[in-house]
Amino acid sequence: MAQKQYSKHDVLVIGGGGAGLRAAIAIAETNPSLSVAMVSKVYPMRSHTVAAEGGAAAVINDNDSLDNHCMDTIAGGDWLPDQDAVELFVREAKDEMVQLEHWGCPWSREPDGRIAVRPFGGMTIERTWFAADKTGFHMLHTLFQTFLKHDKVTSYNEWFATTLLVEDGRCQGVAALELQSGRIEIIAANAVILCTGGAGRVFPFTTNGAIKTGDGMALAYRAGVPLKDMEFVQYHPTGLPGTGILITEATRGEGGIMTNKDGYRYLQDYDLGTPLDVTDPDHPVKKSMELGPRDRLSQAFVKELERGRTIPGQYGDVVHLDIRHLGEKKIDEKIPFVRELVTKYVGIDPVYTPIPVRPVVHYMMGGIDTNNYGATSLPGLFAAGETACVSINGANRLGSNSLTELLVFGARVGKAAAQFAMDHPKLDLTAIEKQGEDEQERIARDFIRKGKGTERVATLRKEMQATMEAGAGIYRSETGLIETCNKLAELRERFSDVLIEDRTLTFNTELTSALELDFMIDVALAIAHSALARTESRGSHQRTDHPERNDEQFLNHSLAFQSDGAPRVDYKDVVITRWPPGERVYGRKK
Ligand SMILES: Cc1cc2nc3c(=O)[nH]c(=O)nc-3n(C[C@H](O)[C@H](O)[C@H](O)COP(=O)(O)OP(=O)(O)OC[C@H]3O[C@@H](n4cnc5c(N)ncnc54)[C@H](O)[C@@H]3O)c2cc1C
Repeated sequence: MAQKQYSKHDVLVIGGGGAGLRAAIAIAETNPSLSVAMVSKVYPMRSHTVAAEGGAAAVINDNDSLDNHCMDTIAGGDWLPDQDAVELFVREAKDEMVQLEHWGCPWSREPDGRIAVRPFGGMTIERTWFAADKTGFHMLHTLFQTFLKHDKVTSYNEWFATTLLVEDGRCQGVAALELQSGRIEIIAANAVILCTGGAGRVFPFTTNGAIKTGDGMALAYRAGVPLKDMEFVQYHPTGLPGTGILITEATRGEGGIMTNKDGYRYLQDYDLGTPLDVTDPDHPVKKSMELGPRDRLSQAFVKELERGRTIPGQYGDVVHLDIRHLGEKKIDEKIPFVRELVTKYVGIDPVYTPIPVRPVVHYMMGGIDTNNYGATSLPGLFAAGETACVSINGANRLGSNSLTELLVFGARVGKAAAQFAMDHPKLDLTAIEKQGEDEQERIARDFIRKGKGTERVATLRKEMQATMEAGAGIYRSETGLIETCNKLAELRERFSDVLIEDRTLTFNTELTSALELDFMIDVALAIAHSALARTESRGSHQRTDHPERNDEQFLNHSLAFQSDGAPRVDYKDVVITRWPPGERVYGRKK
């Protein structure tokens, strides 16, 4: 580097979504004199959190209890969530939601002024708070405006973190690419928090925005931190064919039903594994089988497809999500965005015509292994939000737990990282400056100057996504997974010959796509190898060659470590406090 270039902060947050903003606010509240920096590859309001529609779960009414929320989360996650984490999550959820209202979030209300809650998949009692069907938008706005009130925050918007700087066994900052200038700069910090979101883009058909490429997971993995439970990938049962745009679960929460080609509510034929064997015929679970957990609903689609009972369409087979019986007034009041999306992107009005839907990759249950304060095994490195795995989501996340997770664990990680920064004030700036120079050289050598490469980013990405869907999709088997692992190893190899034709420095999107693909291949390898090693079926991980859950061998979290060649997969115990493993039973079974 010709000239010394670095900036220094007490705590650095990477990611401006719900988790990152909540963490940054918590740091400022813990100690207003700490300098906080936020690096985000897009402007914070463009983070994926903004796309969340349905709602955020927290116990609020008298018919509910913290234990109920725990039980739904644990059984929904097929006994893989850590129960101590779930207990503190449900306990701290309500205060966070009320806090958000005090900061300005317009939660929808009942006519008498109480907070309105809607039913959600896998939740046996209505506890999902919402702001119409733009919950994520309102939450992110509220957090962003609160974040901006603090004086000692610096934003690095449209900066792309490329590597973590680790010295003396401690994370001391990041190297980041300023997208506008193409310059790599070092941002030193006493503590770093990764809030970089999920990785749905490793699959071809996803609800996830184009920026969800698992960058933070790969950054931590490369620094020696394991990725936990990566085999658990959530398919949402109702994506719009072609675009993958999500039709929120709130649509079913408000009474939408799912039908096959014969107009038959096919879910009644499947075991949906809802935790309570509900006897009350008017109970929402009993009345609406559409509110079973997402993994079971997505698996039921595949079975219907195999039985020839789905509807062929331009983008593959679909089933119908029918909301016509709700009537125009309720649709416009409760789920107006659904009507807007379907009208715009499918060209039909769901008030009069059923919506074509199919399962779509939606959420990563797995992620960076952290403790309940968001700390990783690398001192000074923390993580929260979808990129992290605490774990409260286990083998299958319940809809609406994730937005609340951003708040609860965003706040926790912010406090913990602030404390760490205060306790560890010294940094080795000379050493990390040298690392920054090396990083600049690496990008120039391996990407920009290369020019001689033959492999196109788009081709490699397409092949990666295709093999992930083929081998690591809704149903998996040893043969398919081995093929996927081999294909990914081949892609990793071919990536070293990647071609970047665009040599300009300003907003070089070919370069950022290549950096993202590099991260995604690591994430894909961790998913496929963890899935191969788990020879049982649990939650979203269904092995056709091992159809049963095997608690004796696999009531534990997988940990994928980067190593030379294939990732090394190890395990650690699940924390069980009060709920011994049981069956995911549902009243209806055929
Ligand atoms: C369409 C959709 C609907 C959803 N609906 C719901 C719902 O109703 N209820 C619910 O509970 N959950 C829902 N979810 C899930 C939930 O919204 C997400 O899990 C959550 O918002 C993720 O938040 P996050 O803060 O972890 O990350 P994100 O909001 O994804 O933010 C990630 C941030 O990291 C930054 N970043 C990433 N990589 C880099 C890098 N290399 N350098 C710099 N910055 C980087 C990005 O710029 C961004 O600011 C939904 C998800 C989707 C996709």
